[in-house]
Amino acid sequence: MARCPLCGKSLDWGELIEQMIEEKGTEMRELLLDRERFLSAFREFVFKCPHCGEEFYGRNLPEKEAEKVFELLNDFKGSIDWENKKVRLRLNSLLALDTLLEQWDEKVTRKRA
Ligand SMILES: [Zn+2]
Repeated sequence: MARCPLCGKSLDWGELIEQMIEEKGTEMRELLLDRERFLSAFREFVFKCPHCGEEFYGRNLPEKEAEKVFELLNDFKGSIDWENKKVRLRLNSLLALDTLLEQWDEKVTRKRA
């Protein structure tokens, strides 16, 4: 789970992506077409924690989750409401589900082996 590197409170991925949309505008649409470009923009992006108000770079957040977020935003049509600059997906819930399925998958695979 993504946490603020300064105050340690959990962060909402939807809100983080919305900060990027707000700042990048239409460039964000292009970034979402290219995984590498998205990730490098993500690492360099200065996010602001909604809890403590401090700023930090995206590289301080778990990159594995950022990759998943990229996939989720691409997998679902209309995942972003560009007009209102809002993420429609509940990214944190989807990430949690994804982790759960991965763990389950590991368990099943291990039993079979
Ligand atoms: Zn914070």
